[in-house]
Amino acid sequence: MKYNFGAIMFRGESLKAKMRRGTAFIMAAFIAIMGLSVYAYSYYLVNSKYLSEAQSAIKYTEMLFYQTYEDAIRAIDMVQNHHDIATDYASFLNVIYDSVNHVSTVYIGTETGEFYLYPKRFVPSHFDPRVRDWYTHAMDQKDSYVWSEPYVDIGTEELAITISKAMNLSHLNNVVVGVDILLTDINRLVNTVAIGKNGYIILYDSNQRILAHKDDQMINRIDESINDHSLKVNVHGFIISAVIDQKDVNRDFFLLFSILMLFFTGFVFILDRFNITMINDMIDPIVKLKETMVLVKEGDYSVKCDIKRSDEIGFLIDGFNETIKSVLDNSIEMQALYEELYASEETLQDQYDTLFEHKEFIRKSEERYKMIFEASKEGLWEMDANKQLSFLTPNWYTQFSLPDANATYEDWLALVHDEDKDYVKLVFDDHIGNHSDRYLCEYRLLNKENAYIWIESVGKARYNDMGDFIGMSGSHLDITIRKNYELKIYNMAYKDNLTKLYNRSYFEDYLKAFVNSGNTGCILFADINNFKYINDIYGHTVGDDILVTIANRLSHLFADSKKYLLSRFSGDEFIILVKHVEDKELLTFIVAMLTKEIEKPIEGSHSHFKISASIGVTTFPKDGLSSEILLQNADIAMYHAKRVSRKSVYFYDENIKADAVKTMEIENALRHGIENDEFLVHYQPIVDIHTEKMISFEALIRWHSSSLGFIYPNDFISIAERTGLITDIGLIVIEKSCAFLKTINERFNEAFTVSINISAIQLLDEKFTRRVEAILNKYDIPNHLITLEITESMTLDSNEQALRTLFDLKNLNLSIALDDFGTGYSSFENLIRLPLSSIKIDRSIMKDSMSNVHVFKLLESIVEFAHKINIDVVAEGIENEDYVFMSKKIKVDFLQGYLFGKPVSEEEIIERLNKKGG
Ligand code: C2E
Ligand code: CA
Ligand code: CA
Repeated sequence: MKYNFGAIMFRGESLKAKMRRGTAFIMAAFIAIMGLSVYAYSYYLVNSKYLSEAQSAIKYTEMLFYQTYEDAIRAIDMVQNHHDIATDYASFLNVIYDSVNHVSTVYIGTETGEFYLYPKRFVPSHFDPRVRDWYTHAMDQKDSYVWSEPYVDIGTEELAITISKAMNLSHLNNVVVGVDILLTDINRLVNTVAIGKNGYIILYDSNQRILAHKDDQMINRIDESINDHSLKVNVHGFIISAVIDQKDVNRDFFLLFSILMLFFTGFVFILDRFNITMINDMIDPIVKLKETMVLVKEGDYSVKCDIKRSDEIGFLIDGFNETIKSVLDNSIEMQALYEELYASEETLQDQYDTLFEHKEFIRKSEERYKMIFEASKEGLWEMDANKQLSFLTPNWYTQFSLPDANATYEDWLALVHDEDKDYVKLVFDDHIGNHSDRYLCEYRLLNKENAYIWIESVGKARYNDMGDFIGMSGSHLDITIRKNYELKIYNMAYKDNLTKLYNRSYFEDYLKAFVNSGNTGCILFADINNFKYINDIYGHTVGDDILVTIANRLSHLFADSKKYLLSRFSGDEFIILVKHVEDKELLTFIVAMLTKEIEKPIEGSHSHFKISASIGVTTFPKDGLSSEILLQNADIAMYHAKRVSRKSVYFYDENIKADAVKTMEIENALRHGIENDEFLVHYQPIVDIHTEKMISFEALIRWHSSSLGFIYPNDFISIAERTGLITDIGLIVIEKSCAFLKTINERFNEAFTVSINISAIQLLDEKFTRRVEAILNKYDIPNHLITLEITESMTLDSNEQALRTLFDLKNLNLSIALDDFGTGYSSFENLIRLPLSSIKIDRSIMKDSMSNVHVFKLLESIVEFAHKINIDVVAEGIENEDYVFMSKKIKVDFLQGYLFGKPVSEEEIIERLNKKGG
């Protein structure tokens, strides 16, 4: 069913607008009609108001005028009626005048020409009343009241009119009584009457002459237009006319119209508001209903039009809601029905599909299996209850030597590598015996080319209901390539590339497991001596060859993996785990074999090498319970052998630990110190014995280690020598000393010399001479200002290279001093053999000479001898004047000691030189 919601929507939407339009139209029409009516009504109202006002004004004026007229008539009548009481006409007129209001003068003219007047005023003597119009006109019309034209009154000079009447009085006949009425008075009266704001009254006499007018100018004029006046009235021949000012009318009309319209518009507005409310009240529910319907159209049957009303619209909405609700109920039911239907149809389809697939599958499977058998890289096999191989993929198994027919499991096993055989049997029997999920085994198998390939064998056994084995099938896959990769990866992770020995991480893992499982044994830690020099001098290729040679020799020696594990620990370090051996004697024997193997000469392509090693031995559990501690202790023992005891082998014991650790620490700190420039040089003055003038300085190294604090030269120089670090440190001292010497010589224009201590190890370095030369050149220092102090030592005695270097230096014009003379190996022979410029007598000998006359004599003769062969003598340790006295006796040349100054920094020396200069 389809609804035309568009139309409904349009109708719904325009309904409100339409109603609004309709009512607006009605209102507009209403306003127009009302406007017209109000207009007409206002007009009528105002006009009639003015008309009635004009009429009242006329009435009022008429009344006023009538009074004036009456008064005048009354005055005349009073004269006629009461003339018999008149004795004196003048006073008689006075009485009359007083009893009327609106007259200005009352007078009498006689036929004899007498003239009586009240109020009295000037009357010329020749004045004759009988010639006056009022007299003649009255005499002409006897018994009538005669009105005169307005005229200017002679006495008052104001406009006036006169009423006169001829009569006979008791004593006089043919008299005329006249009464003057001042027009100004009438005018004043008339002007008190107003019509609206500007409307007024006009008074005319019978000749259309204006007697009273708002505008004085108009008075006494003849107004022809009087006939146009509609509002007029005749009073005794006078005409009173009312003039309504149209401006007044218009204004009043406009005011009234505006007020009425305003009121009316307000009313209409309120009406409109009311109307809108009514429309909204009626239409809004319908709009809401429409919106709900739109939702329904979009398929939402759960909606409801939420409006409660008791009128017809309410009825409509309720009906709609009920309808929608029943539609919703129906649709849910329908949906459920539909889904049910759809589901059963789907099931039907699925069932059909499955059926079809199964049929297809069965058909294809047969084909596929045939293909797979032919193409597979795997061999498929089947075995019956008697372990007879009942099926083998034909192509695959041709690579092995198996009987053409009736091959068995035993035939197969015969081809398995000896090392794997037991394992294969174990896994196979386990699978059949324990009914495990599947059989999986990797092993080596001999092929027809007499090579072993790696096989992955997978299979599953079958059992009957009784649980008896009735057969097994599975596959074989050639995994040789994968295995090779695995081996490679394994080697990469655990073998050392160069020597093919196990690497450090493998060794550590293994040792850890071995120690943790409570085994006993020992570790031999061998470090090749001076391997760094071999590398430096002969290059890394030669170094590598030597390592490989040693590794090969050791591999043979420790081939038995049940007894040993050999590993290259790092660089030139080899480590051997000797399993289950603690016995010192047996160990000593093994270590001796090790040493022998290492020390066997190695023939290189150009030279042959005699290699030695330092070996540390540690035994467990005696020396430690964890692999880390054991390795550390082996290292300590090795270090002790190499650096301290200088033996080739050292068995770890607790006592060496602290010392070795300290030495190791210093060694590490020294390396750090070189990198971070932690070394300083202090200078101690050397003076001439005769003048006691400073002529030279001895450079003495100072070291503030960032990790260990201040350390005395005596505590680290020997370690620096043993580790070879002295080479670098020595150069640092030479460099700093030269920089210092240049500074002070330039600054003080002197030729101070400096003595620098040199270790014999430094002399072993072939490049030493060249390096010293380079530094001297760098600072532009004459070679003869530098003295190198050396101590007698085995190296100096035995090493040709050291001696050669010394002579090279001498040839460069550097001075050589023999330090610490009188201690150690001192021999006269050295005085002759070495290229010396001076000797420094050790302070202990100097001290001895003070108390021991033999020593004194010996020194005396040594000095004498030295002088003979042109060698200067320096006495060290001069701490007081006694030493100076003694030194003078012995005839030494120069003195050095605390008496002349302790070793101090550059700055202090400079300060001291400055003081001296000043
Ligand atoms: P040395 O060459 O015999 O240096 C003289 C040592 O005696 C210095 O000790 C110095 O401070 C000390 N000394 C000087 N005059 C007197 C004195 O009147 N009385 C006493 N009791 N001692 C005095 P220092 O500086 O501790 O040096 C110790 C040793 O360290 C030096 O002995 C030297 O063999 C070595 N050394 C110092 N600097 C270097 C260096 O740059 N290179 C090398 N290879 N060895 C150095
Ligand atoms: Ca010295
Ligand atoms: Ca010395």
